[in-house]
Order: sequence, then structure tokens, then C-alpha cells
Amino acid sequence: MKEVSVEIELLENTNTQDCPLQLPKNITKKGSIEEGDVKVLIAEGVYTQIEELACSDTKKELGSILLGSSLLFNGKTHVIISAFIEAKYADATASTLTFTHETWNYIHAEQSRLYPGLKIVGWQHTHPGYGVFLSGFDLFIQENFFNLPFQVAYVIDPIRKKAGFFQWKDNKVQKLGGFFLYHDA
Ligand SMILES: [Zn+2]
Repeated sequence: MKEVSVEIELLENTNTQDCPLQLPKNITKKGSIEEGDVKVLIAEGVYTQIEELACSDTKKELGSILLGSSLLFNGKTHVIISAFIEAKYADATASTLTFTHETWNYIHAEQSRLYPGLKIVGWQHTHPGYGVFLSGFDLFIQENFFNLPFQVAYVIDPIRKKAGFFQWKDNKVQKLGGFFLYHDA
């Protein structure tokens, strides 16, 4: 992971009168978040487990589906990632990853079994050794399967130890400068 200086910071204006859902408390900012960016908040436990998954096999790409909720808060899109499901049965090589029908069947079964209250808020996959970006095929996946405004892509390079989120902004998929970790226990 790219290490950035960590500061504890509550999101500005925690008045939730216009919002039935509470944002998580105990938030740590990683990197920089620009005005107008989607605010990604990921549970620390989920972040750690995905990192462990990403590092478990660097010979091929690995992926998962990100689950959670989204809300508009002060007019801004917030995505709260509170769980994930590994994309099993995917066709993977060192530089490609394809979610098969079997993958989607598994994900949908696990989602309704374990996380019926959560929705799909994005996906994650690894680029072992070749950096954090979205390939043409990744963009195709984002545009066709994760095209809602709150759906993000998360790319981890477990060899170069870098990672980054990508958001929908101005109808384009753009890299985010940072995100928030939250401590849910
Ligand atoms: Zn990719």
C-alpha cells in the first residue's frame, strides 16, 4: 500500500438531519480527496482482508465484489464499503480477469445468504506488478457492470505495493486521490 501521512478527521458537518443514515464514526483519511469526488469509506477489516487476498497469489489477477451502501450527504455521494465477496471461479491470467457466469452465480448466492441488506458498490482486482490503472477491458467492465454513480473500482498492485480507487466523475471513470478508512468495532 502507498503509505500516506495519516490524520484523524471527521467529515465536515456531521449534522444528519437531511439524511436518515449515519456515516461511520472514527474515520481516518488516506491520501487526498478533492471537492466533488466520490467519498469512499471502507471498513478497516475489509481493507485488510482484501489486501491479504490480493497478496495471496501474485501469479494471476484476483478480484472481489465490494458490498455496502451509498448515500448522498451534503449533496455528495458517499460509498460505504462494509463487506466483500471473493470473485471465485473467475478466468484469470497474469494480466486478465474475467468474471464468468459461475462467478456471478456464486456472488449473488453469497450476497443473498450473507449480506441481504447490502448492495454492490463496486469491484476490486489486482494488477500483479504492472501498476494501478484501468485497462481498456477494465473500463468495459466498469461501464457495463458497475455504471451506477456510486460504483467504484479498486485496483491493487501487490508487487509494487500500490493501490487506488476509481470513481465516476463527470460521466468518466477517474482515479481518486484518496479514501477514508473507518473503524467499525
Ligand atoms: Zn485490470
